[in-house]
Amino acid sequence: MQNEPDKKSGPLFAQVAVKMPVDKAYTYLVPPELHAILKPGMMVRVPFGRKEVEGYCVGLAETSSAENVKAIREILDEQVLVDGNMLKLTRWIADYYFASWGAALDCVVPGGVKRGSMGRRVEFASLAVDKAKAEELIALYREKSPARARILEALLASGKETPVPRLKSEADCSASPVKTLAKDGFVHIEKKHVVAQPFANLHAPRRPHLEMTPHQTEVFTKITRHIDAKKYGAAMLNGVTGSGKTEIYLQAIDRVLKQGRQAIVLVPEISLTPQTVMRFRERFDEIAVLHGMMNDSQRREQWMNLKEGKASIVIGARSAIFAPVPNLGLVIVDEEHESSFKQPRSPRYNARDVALMRASIENAYVILGSATPSLETYFNASVGKYTRLDLPQRVGGLPMPEVEVVDMRVESRETKKSPMISRRLRELIEATLGRGEQALLFLNRRGFSTHIDCPACGMVLKCKRCDVSLTFHKKRNRTVCHYCNADYEAPQSCPACGGKLRYFGVGTEKVDAEIEKMFPEARLLRMDSDTMTGRNSHEDAFKMVASGEADILLGTQMIAKGLHFPRVTLVGIILADTPLFIPDFRSAERAFQLISQVAGRTGRSERGGRVVVQTLRPEHFSIRCAAQHDYEAFAREELQMRRQLGYPPFSRLARFVVEGTQTGNVREKCDRIASALKDAARDMKLRVVGPAPAPIAVIGNKTRYHILAMAPTSGDVKKMLAEIRPHLSNAKGAHVIVDVDPVNML
Ligand SMILES: [Zn+2]
Ligand SMILES: [Zn+2]
Repeated sequence: MQNEPDKKSGPLFAQVAVKMPVDKAYTYLVPPELHAILKPGMMVRVPFGRKEVEGYCVGLAETSSAENVKAIREILDEQVLVDGNMLKLTRWIADYYFASWGAALDCVVPGGVKRGSMGRRVEFASLAVDKAKAEELIALYREKSPARARILEALLASGKETPVPRLKSEADCSASPVKTLAKDGFVHIEKKHVVAQPFANLHAPRRPHLEMTPHQTEVFTKITRHIDAKKYGAAMLNGVTGSGKTEIYLQAIDRVLKQGRQAIVLVPEISLTPQTVMRFRERFDEIAVLHGMMNDSQRREQWMNLKEGKASIVIGARSAIFAPVPNLGLVIVDEEHESSFKQPRSPRYNARDVALMRASIENAYVILGSATPSLETYFNASVGKYTRLDLPQRVGGLPMPEVEVVDMRVESRETKKSPMISRRLRELIEATLGRGEQALLFLNRRGFSTHIDCPACGMVLKCKRCDVSLTFHKKRNRTVCHYCNADYEAPQSCPACGGKLRYFGVGTEKVDAEIEKMFPEARLLRMDSDTMTGRNSHEDAFKMVASGEADILLGTQMIAKGLHFPRVTLVGIILADTPLFIPDFRSAERAFQLISQVAGRTGRSERGGRVVVQTLRPEHFSIRCAAQHDYEAFAREELQMRRQLGYPPFSRLARFVVEGTQTGNVREKCDRIASALKDAARDMKLRVVGPAPAPIAVIGNKTRYHILAMAPTSGDVKKMLAEIRPHLSNAKGAHVIVDVDPVNML
């Protein structure tokens, strides 16, 4: 603002982004009594149509051409929640991802901050008398009231204020003697807010930085040059599993902190484990962890600390990119290829891409790290948009694990069965257990049988609400929809004709049973969302593997990442093809990533490592390249296919999904969007695919249709959306979802 409008007596107008599905900010009159207070970035309540809604003040002006301007009702919080940079960033998110500015602002400010949640209030007790008087009282109470004596002793011993609940347990007493002591004026009681910090109990011994290999040094030198320039820039750090990417992150962060700036580290939610946090705690204080499991008051506490510059490093999943650090120097996006960086609801932002935009606004540097970079990132690095950094070797001179591919079609032919565990994998498990080492078995599907049908009438057992096959969970004897979580009683026979049902498709529960049979002596630990239901089950499971209490670890993607156990010398991938069954142009990329990540869990020590990949399609290039640890070869082949088909990174994609309970309305709306797109395609270079039923045509009783539109650049996508905007509002019985740069094609 050039002027200081609060000193003038004329009218003042505010631009307000409301939390409604609208594409612009609205003008409101600022009542005189709010002139001196209201600033951009504050939350307000405003009239909107016939109701009142919350919104954010995004700008002030002394003049306005708007007519019939209504006045702001009230200011909800007298602090500026969002600064100018964040206003710019959220405006970009709203434009780029076709969302309302209010909604974009809303995901920047966490719930606990908006509602002013202050956490739980707890009573704290402290001595109100000096040491001599306390000792005198203890002697006095020893006989008459031993509980009071114990309370005073406990307070004397601790020497500081103590939460009353803890005091009660230490003195082994009820609340009443504490109250009596307070009433007599010997003990002082005060209510205070307490906020539990996630991972606060992780105390890590301080460790010095590790010495870098020549490769790491080379990469690090390039990074420091950029960091020291204090300008925007980005690098793709492509390092094989075990190549020491984390060490680079840690030392780069150190560099930024020494400049008085802050760093944000984004990791996929699933790898936000105590192990990950520990590695950072070993080097730095002042770490804030933003966790999906945090409650409002924890979030508020962390947010306030960050805003006041009390923490210099933020580690978190997707939304941590909005951490309000005042002087951002570095953003690290670890496992940048992960689809979980994309928010599945509006605004459908990708935290990786938001990181790049935020860094460019705030002159920070971005490192996109991965052993298997997304094709988009690889392409951007190869055309010079990002600096390309490679770590092609593991640290400590360790080789990459040797990978054997087992053709499961040959296996069934030769054994005349359809085994889950091939003869070769069985042999290697036996040998591994014989040496007292550990095996890790991976399968990306849980449950017992993933498909149930009736050979007599052809019925396939599906969820009543979704177009999805039900999975049989044998232990619970239920069939479960893995899409909407509905579960049903398992039928004894075909509900259509009474015939005998056929169960096939293998999930982790079935492999579990098979392994029990094959290796009754082995201690098997299964990690999937059916077994890991407790608060600490993950941590406990990792401890069991680390301490050697488990011989075989079996699991879903939960075990695919970040684990580092030197005694795991065998990895078996039960069925590598599962991602290839999914109708998605990224399925080959996902298969390659999955095999590489899981294979990377072994060979992390001198004991070496071996990987068995079981597959029905050994000739598929993603499986071939993953077995040879050849990312480059994979990327070349995949890019060629993408170029031919015009898919990203050679185009930008927008996906339109229309859903609703009335199929007629849904189809009609979808046809209308498609014809608007086809009209727009006359003036622009667009390719439109569809409308067609979505691959999962029904979810939660709602019919779903979709359209894909491909445009040459993101500017073209924006132009296209602007052109067809009038057709994108919801219609009766038809809800429209616009997903820019979609990662989920189902
Ligand atoms: Zn039947
Ligand atoms: Zn369902």
